[in-house]
Amino acid sequence: MITVCGLEKNYGRVKALRGINMHVPEKAVYGFIGQNGAGKTTTLRILAGLLLPSAGEARIAGYDILRQPREIRDVIGYMPDFFGVYDDLRAGEYLEFYAAAYGIRGKAARELRDYLLELVDLSDKRDAFVDTLSRGMQQRLCLARALIHDPQVLLLDEPASGLDPLARVEMRELLKELCHLGKTIVISSHILSELADLCTHIGMVAEGRVIREGPLNEVLASSQERKISLRCLGPVEAAVEILESWPGAKILNRAGQQVEFSLSDGPEEAAALLRALAASEAEVVHFAETERSLEDTFLKLAREAQVS
Ligand code: ATP
Repeated sequence: MITVCGLEKNYGRVKALRGINMHVPEKAVYGFIGQNGAGKTTTLRILAGLLLPSAGEARIAGYDILRQPREIRDVIGYMPDFFGVYDDLRAGEYLEFYAAAYGIRGKAARELRDYLLELVDLSDKRDAFVDTLSRGMQQRLCLARALIHDPQVLLLDEPASGLDPLARVEMRELLKELCHLGKTIVISSHILSELADLCTHIGMVAEGRVIREGPLNEVLASSQERKISLRCLGPVEAAVEILESWPGAKILNRAGQQVEFSLSDGPEEAAALLRALAASEAEVVHFAETERSLEDTFLKLAREAQVS
């Protein structure tokens, strides 16, 4: 649904994008993740037609972002990371105003307004002034605005930023609902755990490049490194001694009778290490692989990208 090839963007001497490549399949929920300044907003703004790239190309639903901007505007809904709302409008009027911008007026606009307010759970705020809504409500209203022309693709720039935990959960539920409506969604975030249970696909961006991309499970599995937690009955010194001399093992944390370490090789290596521990004086009572998080994978890949 979205293909991006060699996208570059320079802001004067700042190279914000250094050749972004992305492939977002139809109906995917694509988590576009990266730290502050990685290039997420710049990429999304280019895809939304708000910024011109310095080089490269991109297509959305088959349309070229540079040559077919009108068609692109019809197929995408864009929610910026910072947005202005009109203080003197009520929530319902706000949506009617944007509906009019798409040529939808009268009864059709009112029906659309009510449908969207219900979708984003703001029906009871229809007559409330926009500036009296909480930040979470304003974000949901902004999402409703992005949906006015029923776009196939949603580009959402940090939709949960600045929200409290409850509002984040509400936003996530809303995004799940949009997935069920069959939209293709790109969501940028630097809070990785937030995307793990929502996304089907992940694109990890660092320093203006996508450093890893693919179905979520594949991206997580592609990181060879495993993280293992070990607990001893008594002192951990004997276990630590073995770990320190074991090639590929790196101690990450040590607290009380517990040690957490990473191991660069596969399960056979973990089994060999466990055998060595069992044959030693270390009284190991727990040895288990801890779940690899999106965060761990991202940090590892970002470190590798910096080295190469
Ligand atoms: P964040 O999570 O903080 O929003 P981001 O991943 O969205 O970050 P961008 O906003 O795309 O990153 O910024 C990418 C790089 O381009 C950063 O180094 C940033 O400082 C720079 N940049 C962005 N906009 C401009 C601008 N208008 N002028 C100059 N430099 C800019």
